[in-house]
Amino acid sequence: MTAHVKPKALDNFKARDFRMMIDGVWTEGDGMIERIAPGHSVVVSRYPAGNKADAERAIAAARKAFDNGPWPRMTGAERSNILLKAADLIAARADELAFLDCIESGKPISQAKGELGGAVDIWRYAAALARDLHGESYNTLGDGTLGVVLREAIGVVSIITPWNFPFLIVSQKLPFALAAGCTTVVKPSEMTSGSTLVLGEILIEAGVPAGVVNIVTGTGPEVGAPMTTDPDVDMISFTGSTGVGKLTMVNAAQTLKKVSLELGGKNPQIVFPDADLDAFVDAAVFGAYFNAGECCNAGSRLILHTSIAEEVTARIAELAKKVKVGDPLDPTTQVGAIITPQHLEKIGDYVEGAVKAGASVTLGGGALDLGLGQFMVPTILSGVEPDMAVAREEVFGPVLSVLTFETTKEAIRIANAIDYGLSAGVWSRDFDTCLTVGRKVRAGTVWMNTFMDGASELPFGGYRQSGLGRELGRHAVEDYTETKTLNMHIGARTGWWMPR
Ligand code: NDP
Repeated sequence: MTAHVKPKALDNFKARDFRMMIDGVWTEGDGMIERIAPGHSVVVSRYPAGNKADAERAIAAARKAFDNGPWPRMTGAERSNILLKAADLIAARADELAFLDCIESGKPISQAKGELGGAVDIWRYAAALARDLHGESYNTLGDGTLGVVLREAIGVVSIITPWNFPFLIVSQKLPFALAAGCTTVVKPSEMTSGSTLVLGEILIEAGVPAGVVNIVTGTGPEVGAPMTTDPDVDMISFTGSTGVGKLTMVNAAQTLKKVSLELGGKNPQIVFPDADLDAFVDAAVFGAYFNAGECCNAGSRLILHTSIAEEVTARIAELAKKVKVGDPLDPTTQVGAIITPQHLEKIGDYVEGAVKAGASVTLGGGALDLGLGQFMVPTILSGVEPDMAVAREEVFGPVLSVLTFETTKEAIRIANAIDYGLSAGVWSRDFDTCLTVGRKVRAGTVWMNTFMDGASELPFGGYRQSGLGRELGRHAVEDYTETKTLNMHIGARTGWWMPR
């Protein structure tokens, strides 16, 4: 093993000490959590180790801000203006935020900057929706009745986020909850809390009143769990693993909280012989190795027509060899580090298990020692069968499984023969083939002749064990509301007991 070399970019770098934000006050915890950069093996951040009492104080602050504070009572235009200001401030501090996401998660700096650009757009989109949130009216119920359906902010929302897209994922939730008039407690991953804490500074500067957004750092069991059980919380918006998502739902059931869950995926890309194979090969490499495969949307399962499988796999392997795995701070790096040494080991176990089950390693298969942190060689497993663990479970690493099919029916059956249903890709130049397969694959997003494109306007979420509810899109704000019916009588009312 090579000795770790501190990269030049970190020469003058000093680990940053953060505090958490409860009721507008920057607060210490009971000790600190140190984050060692996965791509550089040096301590880069320290966050307060929050506990149950901190979570409860934050929830009480959010409750007070919802019940008595100005935020839910502002006009949509007022909230929108504050969200727009927040978007501008995020844009102004994008380099600082991207740097934190890069060093704490190990993702490439160029990608982290791209995610910040996407996040700014989401904040602006949510700001626009804040002004457009409205209900319905029914003037069709007869002369004596007018029906009005109101949308009211649901209340206090617990927001729990994972480590793989720290700033982007909080941005898929928080601005929409705020647009609706909700107040919140946010718990980022204990490994990547930095950019979310900077967001706290930004929101105060933008004019979000104290107590509306509280950010509590710490572990899931200490801080996250009370956020899923406290009776003062009205809704939970969670992104993370399917296992913790299920636990969240069980906890929420005790007080029947509304739950929105964005969970794991094992996303197929189905490729027909008439597809534009040049475009597909590039998308396959991008889909599998973007964010080192630590991506719920990763296209980790190729389902190739047998007539093209050998040629296409060889072409993907050739291109994957050119992907630059390296220092996350190097602007030319395409694939960065793996989040923790334990996770790298888990990915390795999946590869080993697949080989034991009969698959073969076409490319990679193991760790890459760059003398920086933990990295993995882009890996391709061929001869994977639908019942193997590597074809059914989320590996969350740069591992591509290749399966094959003969008929369209078989391709759809293999695509759907898993517990997940987050996304899928279909590749064919034939319109009928794309639409037939696209309509039959059980997934929240189906890309046709492309992969992993996104837009703030398009809803995102999963079928089956990939989650509940949808984020983004024009209905995203409504998710953070209750529906109230006003049934209004006009004129004299004929009573039940009154003489007619
Ligand atoms: P985890 O489920 O382990 O953690 C997600 C969040 O939940 C973290 O903040 C974690 O805290 C917290 N948490 C852990 N235990 C509890 C608990 N008992 N109660 C409440 N909160 C808890 O997921 P990862 O962070 O490992 O993220 C990877 C997963 O996220 C993958 O499965 C991936 O597919 C999924 N994901 C889904 C996306 C989607 O939109 N569908 C998008 C991105 C990721 P901590 O870790 O700090 O202890």
